[in-house]
Amino acid sequence: MKWEGNRESDNVEDRRDDEGGGGGGFSGGGLLGGRSIGIGTIVVALLGGWVLGINPLTILNLLSGGAPTAQVQQQQPQRPAHRPPADDHMAKFVSTVLADTEDVWKDVFAKAGGTYKEPHLVLFRGATQTACGQGQAAMGPFYCPADQKVYIDLGFYETLKNRLGAPGEFAQAYVIAHEVGHHVQNLLGISAKMDQMRGRVSKVEYNALSVRLELQADCFAGVWAYNANNSRQILEGGDIESAMNAAAKIGDDALQRSSGGAVVPESFTHGTSAQRQRWFNTGLKTGSIKACDTFSARNL
Ligand SMILES: [Zn+2]
Repeated sequence: MKWEGNRESDNVEDRRDDEGGGGGGFSGGGLLGGRSIGIGTIVVALLGGWVLGINPLTILNLLSGGAPTAQVQQQQPQRPAHRPPADDHMAKFVSTVLADTEDVWKDVFAKAGGTYKEPHLVLFRGATQTACGQGQAAMGPFYCPADQKVYIDLGFYETLKNRLGAPGEFAQAYVIAHEVGHHVQNLLGISAKMDQMRGRVSKVEYNALSVRLELQADCFAGVWAYNANNSRQILEGGDIESAMNAAAKIGDDALQRSSGGAVVPESFTHGTSAQRQRWFNTGLKTGSIKACDTFSARNL
C-alpha cells in the first residue's frame, strides 16, 4: 500500500501514555455504571463481537441483562488530547489512513448534498474511558457513536497478523476504514435505528441486524478503498488479497472455529468470512454507498 508522504489527519488523539485508562486487559469490574462484569461475560462477548465491533459495550450490556447504559460514566481526569509523536511510524500510518477516509467521505457526502463530520481516532493502551463506557483493548478496535470516536490499541495489529493470520498494511487500513464505516452509519442515522431495535427484538433477531450493520461497514470500507485508489493510487499488488484475507479471518465462523468452539450461526454478529469478503468487495468494485444496502439485501 502506498501511503507515505500523504496527508496526515489532525483528528488523532494519543492516549497511550495516559494513566487514566488503567492497563488491565481483563480487569472486568467497574464497567457500565458500576455493573460488574466478570471474565465469563467478557469471554462470551469476545466470541460474539470482539473484532471490529461497533461499540462492543452494547453487546456486553445485552448479555448482562439489557439495562440501558444511560448512567453517565464518571470521567477520569485526563490530560488534554494530544497528537502522537512525529517519529512514530505506526501512528503516522494510522493518521494517514484516517486522513484518506476524511478526504473520501467528505467528497462522497458533498456529492450527495451533505456535509461530512470527521470522527476522531483515539490511540490507547489496555483500557480507556469512552462515552460508551470503559473501552478495553481485548474487545478489538471499536467505534463509539456517542462521542464519534474510533478507538484502537495498536497491539491489535499484532493479533491480526500473528494470531489471526492477516498481515499487511492494507489489511490494517481496512480495519480503520471499517470503523470509519460505522461513523458514516452514525451520520446517516443507521446506528440510531439499530439502537431503537435493541430491547424490542429478541437477541437472535438483534444479532441478525448486527450482521447487516457490520457487513455494511465492510462495504463502506470497500467504498473508501475504491475512491482512495481512484484519487491517490494507493493500491499495490497483493493489497486486495491482504484485505480479503483479513475479512475472511475475522468472519464469525472463522473466529468461532479458531477459538475451538462450535459454529453457531444464530450467535453471529459480524457475518461469515464469505459474507464479509463479498460486501467488502461490493464496495470496492462499485465505489457506491447505494450498493451497500445490506439491510434490504435478500441474500447476504
Ligand atoms: Zn464493526
